[in-house]
Amino acid sequence: YFDNNTLVYLDGEFVPAEQATCGAYAQSLHYGYAVFEGLRAYNTPAGTRIFKAREHFERLHYSCQAIGLPLNYSVEELTAISYELLAKNNLSDAYIRPLAFAAAPHMMLTTPAAGNLLLAVWHWGKYLGSQSLRLTISPYERPNPRAVPIEAKVSGHYANSIIASSEAKSRGFDEALLLDMNGFVAEGPGANFFMEKHGELFTAPAGSILRGITRNTIIDLAREAGITVTEMFFTPSALQGATGAFMTGTAAEVIGVASVDDLVFSTPFEQTLGAQLAARYSALVSGREPEAAPQPGTEAVE
Ligand code: PMP
Repeated sequence: YFDNNTLVYLDGEFVPAEQATCGAYAQSLHYGYAVFEGLRAYNTPAGTRIFKAREHFERLHYSCQAIGLPLNYSVEELTAISYELLAKNNLSDAYIRPLAFAAAPHMMLTTPAAGNLLLAVWHWGKYLGSQSLRLTISPYERPNPRAVPIEAKVSGHYANSIIASSEAKSRGFDEALLLDMNGFVAEGPGANFFMEKHGELFTAPAGSILRGITRNTIIDLAREAGITVTEMFFTPSALQGATGAFMTGTAAEVIGVASVDDLVFSTPFEQTLGAQLAARYSALVSGREPEAAPQPGTEAVE
């Protein structure tokens, strides 16, 4: 899905991806000291629409602030640049990857004087595919929120994600499910987790997870549909007796979970509340439902 001729936005200019490079001494490269976002644009009846651009770019600001990385672009500017980048690359259904980083040569463990900004766009199918996933509880925990600002989308946190995901795959599973430092179910390496039990949904509360924008959307859609959603801590043993589960994320969208280790959920995903919500989500993002009116700040740039 990468093409070196695709334009990216780098510090004020649109340049071919192959020309967007960073130096050998860039602080972000050495220490994972950067933050990123992942958004999706959809080709809707009203044209290209970035889903929840405001929420994503507000989270980018929050993430930068949480680690002391300067970011000199407003939410509106970031949104406008994203639409412009999509148009220049003739992309409509696409994934958008903003990365705020520190390119300056800097080997000290101090915050940089200035920040840099890259935005890239590419066509990306559902990140975890569309077959229900076989998960395994990871031997790796999510990073301790007392050690890092876990609600910030910090690049360095994704070393944990890559290690957990590849460890799960090395044992023949599709993806990992990570616990928090207290042994409660937290989330996947790049997606939140919901469990379905007694006709209700349960998901980990804020604390040891990235509070996903898709997670929030699914909670809203569920409550609108009269489904009870409870944000609470639960251990893997609570999965016994659950009828289903699913994961949510901008890249993954809504994807069913068939099993967690030896536990196979009793109901096929297609017959679960998760599947109903996946359909609602898909209608919402693609503008087939009235709620999909653009959020403030996501107007297309002419
Ligand atoms: N948790 C983690 C660790 C993630 O990387 C992601 C993807 N950004 C999510 C959850 C889901 O977040 P969102 O719905 O905002 O994409």
